[in-house]
Amino acid sequence: MLKIEGLTAEVEGKPILKGIDLEVPDGEIHAIMGPNGSGKSTLSYVLAGRDGYEVTGGTAHFNGVDLLGLEPEERAAIGVFLAFQYPVELPGVGNANFLRTALNAQRRARGEGELDAMQFLKAARARLKELQMSEEMLKRGVNVGFSGGEKKRNEVLQMALLRPKLAILDETDSGLDIDALKIVADGVNALRAPEFSSLVITHYQRLLDYIVPDRVHVLMAGRIVKSGGPELAKELEATGYASVQAAA
Ligand code: ADP
Ligand code: MG
Ligand code: MG
Repeated sequence: MLKIEGLTAEVEGKPILKGIDLEVPDGEIHAIMGPNGSGKSTLSYVLAGRDGYEVTGGTAHFNGVDLLGLEPEERAAIGVFLAFQYPVELPGVGNANFLRTALNAQRRARGEGELDAMQFLKAARARLKELQMSEEMLKRGVNVGFSGGEKKRNEVLQMALLRPKLAILDETDSGLDIDALKIVADGVNALRAPEFSSLVITHYQRLLDYIVPDRVHVLMAGRIVKSGGPELAKELEATGYASVQAAA
C-alpha cells in the first residue's frame, strides 16, 4: 500500500503541500479532487521524484519502501507508474522502440529477461487490441502529432504494458472526449487487482463515473480537507469546492 504521512513540499521556496496524510491500501483506487492550484500536480510530481519539487518534511512509503529516497527510475522499477511520465514529443524516436525501452528497463530492474522486438510486438498488439487502439500508434514518433486524446491513450498503453502496482494519473481526463475517456477508464479498470492500487487525480467528477473510486479525498491549499466514499465526488459536482472550504 501507499502510505503518506505529514508530507510537506515546496516549489521555488513556496510551500505548496502543507501536511498530507493519505493511505491507499492494495486493491483500492482513490481519487484526489480539488480546485486549480490546490497542489494536486505537486503531490504527483513529489511522488514521481521530479526535479524542482522539494520535500521539506514527512514520508511516503510504498509497500514499506521509502519512495522519497529513490531515484525516479527506481520508483518505476518497483512498480510505480506516473501517467504524465512521458508527455513529451520525441521526434525521430519510434513509439514502439520507446515503449520497449521503458518495458525492458523495468524488466532489467526486476531481474527479468528483456523482450526482443518480436516478443514486444506480440505483447503490444495484445494490449492495443484490448484498448481498441490502432497499431499505427506504434509506428509513429513518440507523441508526435498525437492529439490530446491520442497522448492519453498512449499513456494508457504504456500503463497496460508496464502493469504497475501503483498508478498515479494526474488529470488524465483533461481534453478527452467521452469515447476516449471510456477507453482510459477501461484501461485503468482492467488493471484492478488485489495487488494494484491507484491515485486518480482529477478536477472533474466526470472521470469518476467510469473509474469508480473506493475513496475520494479533497485537496485544498495543500491539505486534504475532506475524505469520503464515491458519493463525495457527486456532492462536489453539485455544490462546488467552496462549500467544502466553508465547512473545513
Ligand atoms: P493543481 O494541480 O491542483 O492545479 P499545482 O500543484 O499545479 O496545483 O500547483 C499548486 C501551486 O503551486 C500553485 O499555486 C502553483 O502556482 C504553484 N506551482 C506549481 N508548480 C510550480 C512551479 N514549477 N513554479 C512555481 N510555482 C508552481
Ligand atoms: Mg492545475
Ligand atoms: Mg494539476
